[in-house]
Amino acid sequence: MKRKAGIRNPKCPSHSLLKTFKTMSKNCLECNEKIVGREDKKFCSDGCRNAYNNKINKDSNNYMRNVNNKLRKNYRILSDANTEGKSKITKTKLLSKGFDFDYFTNILNTNTGNTYYFVYDQGYRFLENDFYMLVKKEY
Ligand SMILES: [Zn+2]
Repeated sequence: MKRKAGIRNPKCPSHSLLKTFKTMSKNCLECNEKIVGREDKKFCSDGCRNAYNNKINKDSNNYMRNVNNKLRKNYRILSDANTEGKSKITKTKLLSKGFDFDYFTNILNTNTGNTYYFVYDQGYRFLENDFYMLVKKEY
C-alpha cells in the first residue's frame, strides 16, 4: 500500500517525542527562559543555577546577620548591667539601652517554677513590677 505524503501519523515516534518535550518544558527559576530536557531540571544553565543559589544564601545570611547582631547587643547590655554575676535591673532601663526581649538563645525552667531567659551565659528572669533579675550561668 502506498503511503500518502503529508499526512501525519499520530503514532509516529518522532511526533510523540516532540509532544513529550513540550509537556516537560518548564521555565528556568532564575531567568524564566523555557528549559527543555530532564524532568528534574530547574535551570537553563549552570550560570542561572549559581545566581539563584547565591541569592538564596545571601538572603539567609542577611537574616542570620541581623539575628546575631540583636543577640550580640542584648548580650552586651546584660554583661554591662550584671558585672557582679547577679543583680537587678528595671525593664525600663533595659529597653532604654535598646534591649530586645524577642531575642535570646535558650530558656531555662527551674524546678521551683521560675523561667530564665538566656543570651548565651547571661540570663534574666522577670521578678515583679518593673524589675528583672540578672544572673550569669556558672560553668
Ligand atoms: Zn536561566
